[in-house]
Amino acid sequence: MIIGGMLVSTVEYPGYISMVIFTGGCLLRCPYCHNPELITGGEQVNLREIKEEIDDSQEFIDSLVLTGGEPLIQYDELEKIIKHAKVSKLKFKLDTNGCYPERLKKIIKYVDYVALDVKAPFNSYEKIIGAPIGEDVKKSMKIAYNSPNTFLECRTTYVPGLLNKEDILNISKNITCNLYTIQQFRNRVVLDDKLKQTNNPTRKELMELAQLAKNYVDKLMIKTSEFGNEIVK
Ligand code: SF4
Repeated sequence: MIIGGMLVSTVEYPGYISMVIFTGGCLLRCPYCHNPELITGGEQVNLREIKEEIDDSQEFIDSLVLTGGEPLIQYDELEKIIKHAKVSKLKFKLDTNGCYPERLKKIIKYVDYVALDVKAPFNSYEKIIGAPIGEDVKKSMKIAYNSPNTFLECRTTYVPGLLNKEDILNISKNITCNLYTIQQFRNRVVLDDKLKQTNNPTRKELMELAQLAKNYVDKLMIKTSEFGNEIVK
């Protein structure tokens, strides 16, 4: 399996201590990607070694998180890792960009938590992200939302200039999920160097967007580097 690294985290899966695996490979080229080295990179690591690493950490972790890159791109390996996590009684969280609804459908019964990127209004993906995958993301959202034992978080990185207030409103009107998170764009590491000139949105800006979106979603959170995760009342 191609991965960019593994670490233990207390923040990637809320309420759990997790082993996080950063997988390599992604079909998209989001200009604000903050893991650009993982889009085509990573190192080949034997699946057995990954399982051993999980087993060796069993005493102090209670969950496994796969993030990327896009984990579903390496479907066969991912399926084996999930099954290993389940046999090991670990909770499992998957971060995904929603490109692969059919693959998600096949493993959704094993997934306790899906964090799904909703990067743009479903009908504006091509314009904003450069890939016409809005319908796939919508399908992925429905699969995760309709899975009885899966918690679904939809999340949008708010990049000023790429997205605007109307886009956030449009997204919030068209998603169904257990939690919607508007997260702060950070200009320090990005795929497209031009975005280094874009200011990081402030907490105040995100809070104003959240107040608009709140009319359409049940539970909403903003995420900033300064204040962390904040549920919006
Ligand atoms: S932000 Fe995520 S979906 Fe976009 S290119 Fe980077 S890894 Fe892929």
